[in-house]
Amino acid sequence: MKNIKHTKIVATISDKNCSTEFLSKLMEAGMNVVRINTAHQTTESAMEIIRNIRSVSDSIAILVDTKGPEIRTKNITEPIQISKGETIRIKGGVDEPSGNQLLVVDYLHFVRDIPVGSAILIDDGELELTITGREEDALLALVSNGGWIKNRKSINVPGVSLHLPSLTEKDKQFIRWAAANDLDFIAHSFVRNKEDVQAVQEILDEEGSKIKIIAKIENTDGVKNIEEILDHAYGIMVARGDLGIEIAAEKIPAIQRKLIRKCVERKKPVIIATQMLHSMISNPRPTRAEVSDVAIAIFDRTDAIMLSGETAYGQYPVEAVQIMSRVAMEVESSKDKRNDLPVPRLENEVSAFLAEAAVMSANELKVSAIITDTLTGKIARYISAFRGPRTVYAKCHNGRVKRELALSYGVIASEIVVKKNKHKLVETSLIDLVNRGCISEEDTVVYVGGNFGVGGGTSFIEIASVSQMMHQKKKKEER
Ligand code: PGA
Ligand code: MN
Repeated sequence: MKNIKHTKIVATISDKNCSTEFLSKLMEAGMNVVRINTAHQTTESAMEIIRNIRSVSDSIAILVDTKGPEIRTKNITEPIQISKGETIRIKGGVDEPSGNQLLVVDYLHFVRDIPVGSAILIDDGELELTITGREEDALLALVSNGGWIKNRKSINVPGVSLHLPSLTEKDKQFIRWAAANDLDFIAHSFVRNKEDVQAVQEILDEEGSKIKIIAKIENTDGVKNIEEILDHAYGIMVARGDLGIEIAAEKIPAIQRKLIRKCVERKKPVIIATQMLHSMISNPRPTRAEVSDVAIAIFDRTDAIMLSGETAYGQYPVEAVQIMSRVAMEVESSKDKRNDLPVPRLENEVSAFLAEAAVMSANELKVSAIITDTLTGKIARYISAFRGPRTVYAKCHNGRVKRELALSYGVIASEIVVKKNKHKLVETSLIDLVNRGCISEEDTVVYVGGNFGVGGGTSFIEIASVSQMMHQKKKKEER
């Protein structure tokens, strides 16, 4: 039985460093999904990343990260310095230049929407101000953490719901581009509610695209509305970078744990993101705290962990993925079953029942692997939700589903081409996995399958040795 990493790794890639050699090394180190951050790309520059990934592998999923509803500083030609104790004025959407104790931001209704008393954080929380008063067309803000403000820097207003549209023009352009290029995931930033997810879905529907939506949870609204967001999204990302600014940092660990739990209960993939190995942007070794952070996400039962600057522009990108993989494998093998999260089952849900039975048998019997064939990926995600100790080999009928499963814990997906005959399906799956060295004929495995052909739903589990299963299927064929 091979020792395989079950936690999936998402790596952010920039067009400045995306050679096929580099991508191959990351893949070998354990990268499963590539994230393209559109805040730093054009569709042309992103195209080069796509081409190179596709030439390296057709199993790596591609995730396009939108900017989403956000506020940025504007009209700053020279960086502006603000100092502690000083009061400045802030205006929204106007054409005036920033400077001379005036800061212009790109949200038209800033003055109307931000209550007196709010904290304003600029540039990922580097600078901080408090709103102390309101004039007709400006807010007064007292500086508590000073520094230099540059153009197009982020503005966060913790805890305040803003009426920004769900999508920017650039987001729409990237979503259509992702659809045209048959990419796998859109990770939409700052999702506040189901409407934000639906806005992305509408464009995908217009384009006839099957791209799946990952909702990035990075503010109070997103956390509060997690249930309705999960009703509409394929999965979520716990985007701790912005979340840690929008909500007190000490609240993030418990929120992370709660959001993972929600996803496990809904059998939907979850990614834990940002600053996991941050010091590796410039150091070859992570801090102990970073290693623990990766470990805790896995102990919490996440599907995937993410690297941002570490792989996009850091000095040790391959090492960062290698370390994540090593930590993941070590932690996975030392998880305590007693901490497994309960996976609720709806009444009369046959596939969920069989998924649970398959994982239970794999826990209790000497079983080497769970094998399933899946048209939509659903049964594989169900089995994955239990976070069992055995690898789940999913045979998929198309490349898209195979790549979607790149986000699901413990699932190794590959394609299969068979006719409708169910015996052929099992046999072909097993032969292929034996040939690729994933399982051997002596292994006892659990097969989760359907008796009613491709797309007919899951209806049985079988537990036997691989050779027995292959033999038995052959015999049935001959009869
Ligand atoms: P970003 O999202 O890197 O696109 O800001 C992730 C986060 O906020 O954690
Ligand atoms: Mn973010």
